Amino acid sequence: MRPRGGGVLRADGVSLEALARRHGTPLFVYSARTVRERLDALRRAFRRREPLVCYAMKANPCRALAAVLAREGAGADIVSGGELARALRAGFDPRRTVFSGVGKTEAEMAAGLRAGLLAFNVESAEELDALARVSGRLGRVAPVSVRLNPDVNARTHPHITTGRAENKFGVETAEALRLYARAARDRRLRVVGVQCHIGSQITQAEPFRRAARALARVVARLQAQGIRLQHADIGGGLGITYKDERPLAPAALARALEETFAPWPEMRLLLEPGRYLVAEAGILLTRVLYRKKTAKRRFIVVDGAMTDLPRPALYGAWHPVEAVRTRPGPRRRADVVGPVCESGDFLARARLLPPLERGDLLAVGKAGAYGFAMSSQYNSRPRSAEVLVDGGRARLARRRETLKDLIAAER
Ligand SMILES: *Cc1c(COP(=O)(O)O)cnc(C)c1O
Repeated sequence: MRPRGGGVLRADGVSLEALARRHGTPLFVYSARTVRERLDALRRAFRRREPLVCYAMKANPCRALAAVLAREGAGADIVSGGELARALRAGFDPRRTVFSGVGKTEAEMAAGLRAGLLAFNVESAEELDALARVSGRLGRVAPVSVRLNPDVNARTHPHITTGRAENKFGVETAEALRLYARAARDRRLRVVGVQCHIGSQITQAEPFRRAARALARVVARLQAQGIRLQHADIGGGLGITYKDERPLAPAALARALEETFAPWPEMRLLLEPGRYLVAEAGILLTRVLYRKKTAKRRFIVVDGAMTDLPRPALYGAWHPVEAVRTRPGPRRRADVVGPVCESGDFLARARLLPPLERGDLLAVGKAGAYGFAMSSQYNSRPRSAEVLVDGGRARLARRRETLKDLIAAER
């Protein structure tokens, strides 16, 4: 979503000022249209094969937003029992849903088996044992896809690279082959696929190409042993432009996958994008509380904080910041900071901004992924409300938390 309008920002035709007045700030505003456009762009990038796009719920589990993708026929990628429950509530088909994660509990496995998921992306021998046990106990057959750690450098932020040998995720090729051999002999398990996920906010095609080749080598080795896989899942990680990054086009990813898996035209290709689908669909609306100046810096104190959008504090991430109504006058450099008692609590640093006054609204862009999803109640701040704009109409997707919500679980 590119908020725009004659000097005053709007979201798909809806007034941001009106939304802030009606629902308060800080406020997340999501565009259903942008989400649909991103899903379409990803699907259109594939020429020869129709991929199954499994939306990584963890990027933004908001039901109204996820439901937009579910209605378009996307599947889901979940990493916990909580996400399973929310994926089903959002309307995702369990037969199009895969369960990832290095530490699934047996209770979570049982819930996934009862739901009838497409695959469990298994990450260790002990997890495979546990899955077989749970599956046997329930009288089911668990669909198994081994998560490969292809040891490729995704060349992204160290906190979000996941496909190196020193990361906790996945298993090496030799171990993957042992897990498949074991699963193939176990009637409580059914081998269905191979998966990897090498990191997030990846901007180059090469890491994907190498990961795809690593998956294909496993497919070929298994085929030689008479084990046929139904799908290959390259994971998520497609990067977006926050500032000046030039991420690979989805077509480059599609080409790498279609070429690599050309020998197996019957296999289904899966993707698990999160950020790519929803990051650009969201903004965080926040209001200026105070302005202050020190000998070294100028600060704009706003009511949004690291508790709402933790990415700048966590990764030093850059998000676009714009005044919703631009006042005439010279632009000045300032830090946009929140009320939380941490120096790391900033939304933007040394940013050129138009003149601002108390009560003015700022729109922090590209906040649809890993924003609300990572929000917290730190400093006992109730979490923001979320609004979905669809077809020129806005509706509240999640109400703002209240002081009561802060203490509701306390005994
Ligand atoms: C986080 C994650 C994703 C989504 O990553 P994005 O960078 O948001 O696309 C996909 N698959 C798995 C297993 C993940 O952990």
